[in-house]
Amino acid sequence: MSKEESTLEKKLTFCPGNVWKGLSSDVIDGINKFNDGYKKFIGDSKTEREFISNAKEILDKNGFKELSKTKKLAPGSKVYKINKNKNMAFAVIGREDIRKGCNILASHIDSPRLDLKGRPLFEDGDAMMAALKTHYYGSIKKYQWVNTPLAIHGRVVKEDGSSVDLCIGEEGDDPVFAVSDLLPHLSKILQGERKMREVIKGEELIVLMGGIPVEDEEAKEKIKLNILKILNDRYGMVEEDFVSAEIELVPAGPARDVGLDRSMVGAYGHDDRACGYTSLMAAVDVKKPLRTSIVVLYDKEEIGSVGNTGASSMFLESFMSDLLVRTKGESYIKDLQNMLESSLAISGDVSAGVNPSFKGVHEMKNAAKLGCGIVVTKFTGAGGKFSGNDAHAEYMAFIRRLLNGNSIRWQPCGLGKVDEGGGGTVARFIANLNIDIVDAGPPVIGMHSPFEIISKADVYETYRAYKAFLETGI
Ligand code: MN
Ligand code: MN
Repeated sequence: MSKEESTLEKKLTFCPGNVWKGLSSDVIDGINKFNDGYKKFIGDSKTEREFISNAKEILDKNGFKELSKTKKLAPGSKVYKINKNKNMAFAVIGREDIRKGCNILASHIDSPRLDLKGRPLFEDGDAMMAALKTHYYGSIKKYQWVNTPLAIHGRVVKEDGSSVDLCIGEEGDDPVFAVSDLLPHLSKILQGERKMREVIKGEELIVLMGGIPVEDEEAKEKIKLNILKILNDRYGMVEEDFVSAEIELVPAGPARDVGLDRSMVGAYGHDDRACGYTSLMAAVDVKKPLRTSIVVLYDKEEIGSVGNTGASSMFLESFMSDLLVRTKGESYIKDLQNMLESSLAISGDVSAGVNPSFKGVHEMKNAAKLGCGIVVTKFTGAGGKFSGNDAHAEYMAFIRRLLNGNSIRWQPCGLGKVDEGGGGTVARFIANLNIDIVDAGPPVIGMHSPFEIISKADVYETYRAYKAFLETGI
C-alpha cells in the first residue's frame, strides 16, 4: 500500500484500538492507582445500602451537603439526597441558569445475587444440617453460584424499628457460606439430562448454615435452633425478623488483579458499580462546571428498574425540582419541564466484552473489546431494539465531539449479534422525561457471574469520559 493510500485510510476509516499501547509509565501508574481505589470500594460495597453509605462518606469528605439541610444553592454548591438508603442523587450546581438544563450521569448499584426468602431457615433431618432457602435476584446462570464461598450482607429491621447490619464472610477468619453442587459420581441421571437453565434449579440454591445441635432435650429441630440461638446471641434476632430483613448472599472476598500483567480486575459487581464508582469520582473531581452536574444511582435495575428506588420512579424529577427551587426560589412546573428537556444524560452501564471462549455470539466489527476504552452503545434492547433506548444521531455526534475533543479512548458497539439476545438499562426510563441519553460504560466479561472481569484501562477511560461529560457545555 502506498503512503498516499494509508493517509487516505487514516482520514476516512474508523478503527478503535488498544488503550494501553504507547502509554507512558506515569499514565499507567495513574490507571493503577485509580483502580486500587476502585477495588477497595467495590470490595466494601457489595449491596446497594453499602454502596450508598460508602459513597456518602466520600461525598461528606469532599464538601457535599445533605440537600434537605440546605436552603439556597449557588454556583459551586454540592448536595446529595439519599432515598430509602438504597438509591441516591448528588449534584454540583453550575454557573449557568439551571433552567438551561443539567448534565446527568445515571447508573445502577444493585447487582445479581441470592436473596433470602421470608422464612429461610430450616433443618434437613436427613442431611443433619440447617440451611437457608433463597430466591435469586436478577438474571443469573444459577450453576455459577454453587461451590463458591459466599458472604452474608444485609440489614435486619426488627419489629420495634431498630435495625442491625450484617456482614459475615469478609474478614480473614469469618466463616463463609456455600451452595453445594452434586458430585459427578451421582449426577449422571439427575443432572445429566437437564438443560443449562436447570442444571441447578431455583429451589436447589440452598445455603449451608450448620450442623451442631443445641443442648435442649425438648427441642424438635435442634440444629436449626442452635443457628437461631447464635443469631439471637450476636444480633438479638428471632426467626420472625427474617420477614423484615434484606439479606443478600454475595461472593465473599476482595476484588483481585487478573492476568500476569495485572491489566484486569476480577470482582463481584462490576455491573454496575464500575459506572457508579467512576460517576462518583467524576462528580467529586469536577471543578465549577458550566452546567449543573448530576449523578443518580439507582437500585432495582437488574429486576426491571421497578419500585420507588428504581429508575422508573419519580426520584430524579423530584431531586431536580428540589435543585430548581433552591437555586431560583419560586418556580413553575414549566421551569422544571424546560430544565428536563434541556438536560443531557449518559446512562452509565457496563457492556459485554468479547470473551475469547465464546466469540461466536458477537459480530466482531460491532463488538466491545477489553482494553479498548469506554463503550458507547447507541441502541440497546432485543429482537429489533425492543424495550431499549435508541439515541438520536444528533446526540451521538455530540458524544463523539466530547470524547474525541478530550482524547478519550472509546469504541462503539452493540450487545451481541442481531437476535442473539439483548438487554436494557436505565436509559429508557430517563428518556421518558424527554432527556437525550445514550449508554456508555466499560466492557465486562463474565457479566452477572460471581467473578466478573473488567480492564483497568477501560475503568479509567470511563472515569475520564464521565468527568468530561459533567464539565461540558453544549
Ligand atoms: Mn447493568
Ligand atoms: Mn446487569
